[in-house]
Amino acid sequence: MRISDDRYSRDRQRFDVALRFIRHEARTHTIRTWTGLSDDRIRKLYRSYMCGPQGGSLTRHRGKSPQQIGFFTRSGRARQEAALLASLCRLVGAMPESQAPELARALPSLGRGELLCQAYEAYRGLVLEPLISFEHAVFLLTSLVRGDELTLAGCPDCGASLIVDRWSLRAPRCAMCAAQPEPLEITPPPE
Ligand SMILES: [Zn+2]
Repeated sequence: MRISDDRYSRDRQRFDVALRFIRHEARTHTIRTWTGLSDDRIRKLYRSYMCGPQGGSLTRHRGKSPQQIGFFTRSGRARQEAALLASLCRLVGAMPESQAPELARALPSLGRGELLCQAYEAYRGLVLEPLISFEHAVFLLTSLVRGDELTLAGCPDCGASLIVDRWSLRAPRCAMCAAQPEPLEITPPPE
């Protein structure tokens, strides 16, 4: 009895996460990787969602998932939004503390998929016209956890979260601090 209950709730969770991914216009490949559902079941779920009241506004994306980390560093706004999303991922627990390629490979799971949706939904709620699609959010999280190209760091002047190219030679500062003519002298508060 217990086993079938567990199995039922696991299947339920699988469908819930897949549905959230579908709402965020994730690709079939991404949904399969994170939920373990077969392409056939994803297609059926997708069709039944499209027939529902919210289905009409959905765009189905085909082709490859994003692969260019330059997307997150191409402009100040992209960097800022990527840093916000990454901070939210860290805050809800979708992003592990450490970075390693094997951690990135082990990322896709139901539990982490739920947390990623939570972070992404918070990001969409905070940014008026968000630049980052859900597929890009998956890619950002994976790249940051892999840690070989991008990393989440703090601005040395103000401590704001920053997306940093691992191999960048310039010491990275946030847009606000970079706009200052001179670095701010921070005087420590009196003891
Ligand atoms: Zn700063």
